[in-house]
Amino acid sequence: MSEETADIRIPLDLLPADGRFGSGPSKVRVEALRALAETGTSYMGTSHRQKPVKDVVARARQGMARLLGLPDGYEVLLGNGGATAFWDVAGFRLVREHSHHAVFGEFSSKFAQAMAEAPHVATATTVDAEPGSHPQVVAVPGADAYALTQNETSTGVCMPVARPQGADADALVLVDATSAAGGMTVDPAEFDVYYLSPQKALASDGGLWLAACSPAALQRIDDLADRWAPASLDLLIARDNSVKDQTYNTPALATIFLLVQQVEWILEQGGLAWAEARTRESSGVLYDWAESHELATPFVADPAMRSPVVVTIDLDDRVDATQVSAILRANGVVDTDAYRKLGRNQVRIATFPSVTPDDVRHLTRCLDYVMEAIAR
Ligand SMILES: *Cc1c(COP(=O)(O)O)cnc(C)c1O
Repeated sequence: MSEETADIRIPLDLLPADGRFGSGPSKVRVEALRALAETGTSYMGTSHRQKPVKDVVARARQGMARLLGLPDGYEVLLGNGGATAFWDVAGFRLVREHSHHAVFGEFSSKFAQAMAEAPHVATATTVDAEPGSHPQVVAVPGADAYALTQNETSTGVCMPVARPQGADADALVLVDATSAAGGMTVDPAEFDVYYLSPQKALASDGGLWLAACSPAALQRIDDLADRWAPASLDLLIARDNSVKDQTYNTPALATIFLLVQQVEWILEQGGLAWAEARTRESSGVLYDWAESHELATPFVADPAMRSPVVVTIDLDDRVDATQVSAILRANGVVDTDAYRKLGRNQVRIATFPSVTPDDVRHLTRCLDYVMEAIAR
């Protein structure tokens, strides 16, 4: 940053009450952090094999089931390692021999790559779209698992969660819902596994994966039981532990607690319908702002593909987005930077349920102020 931009001070009345707009780790509500601190001596620093912690794990599993409206027979499983570890987990006990992937950004491509490299998965095929859009997934004969990403966090594109028409009868639909779960509605009839890390829309911390599994997915775990899997990535072991409200090895207790805070908070407010209405309001403020600003344009051209939870906005060459984000950061408004590998003159703003629409309105005023100050 040049010297004169380094000390641009945004007027206090324009600033949001909470300046966290990152796409993950994302804003954790201060009320949830306080609730954690208030557990004092009763939770943190106690055994994950005893009732106080197991009760919180049970609330996490039941809360997720209620939030997603899971029918009877579904199970919420959990384990360590986040969504990235879950891709490897899925490769051992969910993908039989052929996975088919919708690839349209960094995260969706990583799962496809993991399956392409896994020696125990014979075939991994993809249908690709340029960043900024999503591909149409059509059935591929022989594919036994379809990999969808409800919200591609790297680009701000969301796609419908729907079973591909004409897919093999026993094919599973695996949905990476890491940044969507809790901020977008979903129909459980359209997936077999809906998995996530909780440090995005669910406003907790990283290190954990959760996976809502249909009876067909639970059956697939049994069908592939003979395949070797490392214990830490073994869904059979994860399932046996999860149904007892435990994990195979020690989890981060704070992560589970904060997740429960967020899930129960969303349920109290009115559930996923409420959450999506709120994320649509917040993201709508930003898309409207970008469409009416002469130096800004929504990156995602098709409004139907624009994410309600991660908003990507291209800036005109007359303003340097890196500089905009740096000035915002110096004023306490953090993590508006574009996804690093996308390489665009862009800001990326999370509008997860924790973020208030009012703070998003303030953010647009901060953007106006900074862009006006530095535009060439
Ligand atoms: C962040 C993210 C991941 C990776 O999550 P980790 O917790 O870092 O493993 C995977 N998929 C999507 C869609 C994400 O947003």
